[in-house]
Amino acid sequence: MKQFAVIGNPIAHSISPDLHNYVYNSLGIEANYEKLKIQINEIPSIIDDLKNGVLSGINVTIPHKENVIEYLDEINPRAKTIGAVNVIHKNGNKLFGNNTDWFGFNMSLKKNEIDVSGKEVIVLGAGGTSKSILFALKQTGVKKIILLNRTLQKAEELQDEIVFPNSLDDSVQMIKNDSIIINTTPIGMQSEQCPIELGLLHENQTLIDVIYTPMETVFLKFGKKIGAKTLNGLDMFIYQGLTSMDLWFGEDISKQVNFTQLKTYLGNKLC
Ligand code: NAP
Repeated sequence: MKQFAVIGNPIAHSISPDLHNYVYNSLGIEANYEKLKIQINEIPSIIDDLKNGVLSGINVTIPHKENVIEYLDEINPRAKTIGAVNVIHKNGNKLFGNNTDWFGFNMSLKKNEIDVSGKEVIVLGAGGTSKSILFALKQTGVKKIILLNRTLQKAEELQDEIVFPNSLDDSVQMIKNDSIIINTTPIGMQSEQCPIELGLLHENQTLIDVIYTPMETVFLKFGKKIGAKTLNGLDMFIYQGLTSMDLWFGEDISKQVNFTQLKTYLGNKLC
């Protein structure tokens, strides 16, 4: 039986084992997936487990997406550009790092018929997930990204010809009645808070949150109430997981899965 895992710290909240074990069971794949709380000094021992076959592949979450990079033989060029690895797979004796968060995000846009190509998009937050989202948006051909962050300097580090950094405090000047706004901050996860003033939300906006616990943050709940189009992070999460499986098993597992049934199963776990 193949063994997979997600490593991170904290990890208790992760529903990755639910996603992966559901797919293994429904497709009759002999595999198991667990979550492992790992400190930074324990990464070498996880790498050994991958090398000697105790583990067949891993997902990586906060705070190790950058920490694992130095232990890997090859990094996918896209993951290198993003600067973060969320999945490791093995080919022969070599360990490969990849990033499926950006792809998961773009798949979720596609599934929900949100077209951002040629448009201006507002991104809240300039942390690890924001880097994947910025990369994803650039792949879709967005025209301009206004990056609002509490610490302006961190947003400025991500500035380029498409990305325009500003302070989160300037959101009043930046947000329009028809903006596409993507929240990549954790605000709303553990509190009834919104990353921007509720008064800036409007029915003609598209509001996307990468958070999926809770399924509806205040940002999305209020937006939905006033008629805006809203999308949470669950589809992104599912797609990054399915794409990880495709890398591990070298086949299109994702195409064999009933997405709706899987989403319902996970949605029930999150309620
Ligand atoms: P991170 O690297 O710690 O970055 C957090 C960002 O949020 C930073 O820009 C930080 O600003 C900002 N922020 C945090 N608290 C704030 C506050 N109270 N007020 C204003 N700004 C604040 O975190 P991350 O790894 O990117 O994770 C962000 C979220 O994405 C988490 O909720 C995570 O669960 C979610 N996520 C979802 C998926 C999915 O598949 N749906 C995948 C990955 C992550 P400063 O720079 O000023 O500190």
